[in-house]
Amino acid sequence: MIRQKIVAGNWKMNGSKESIVSLIGGLLEMGGSDSEVVIAPSFPYLSQVSEMISDSALVLAAQNVSNHEQGAYTGEVSVSMLNDFGVKYVLLGHSERRSLYGETDEQVATKVKAVLDFGLTPMLCIGETLEERESNKTFEVCQRQLQAVIDCVGVDSFEQMVIAYEPVWAIGTGLSASAEQAQDVHQSIRSFLSTLSESVARKVQILYGGSVKASTSSALFEMPDVDGALVGGASLDAKEFIAIVKTA
Ligand code: PGA
Repeated sequence: MIRQKIVAGNWKMNGSKESIVSLIGGLLEMGGSDSEVVIAPSFPYLSQVSEMISDSALVLAAQNVSNHEQGAYTGEVSVSMLNDFGVKYVLLGHSERRSLYGETDEQVATKVKAVLDFGLTPMLCIGETLEERESNKTFEVCQRQLQAVIDCVGVDSFEQMVIAYEPVWAIGTGLSASAEQAQDVHQSIRSFLSTLSESVARKVQILYGGSVKASTSSALFEMPDVDGALVGGASLDAKEFIAIVKTA
């Protein structure tokens, strides 16, 4: 079974009404692609991006969501609100959320559940810090982050999810994992899942994220267990992002 590649752009807290017009304008000139191309703008721009891409194959994602349905949660955004704007994917557990905003494995898991309950698709980010890698804990950390989600929603739910392996040391540092390093971890993730469900292990798309550029993406995409990329910085430049998509 061939897993479709996904190339997702995580704009993080960047962009303005004006810059989005030219960035999306550039992406719309890209034409068709065999991969699914996903854009994750900040909340205030979901509506603008949603309208701009409505006649295209581009797919909308959000960068976070609340684990509550509605009510007195000032500053939060619910899954139903995202659904109103045509969002398909929701990034969850990004390392910036975990490290800067203290999101725990359990909180990430309850967000995954909220997203799945509404029929949207979680894009679950996992990955180790440099210190953890240097003490050979890479897989232990990934497994712990996955297990918290499995405990909450069950392994079969991973058929409705995407995993993004993002080593923290590679995010925004210009220091991408090598294709072999990425493959190694992706394969471990898949073989861990296969001990619980063969079908999930075969179907789940595992993206790599961390300083992906057009110059490194083709080697990554050649790896058998790398099913695409979650791209930060390079997704803010239409030409570079399109070049990455073309390598997928
Ligand atoms: P980067 O970010 O490509 O800028 O390293 C990736 C991410 O955080 O998703």
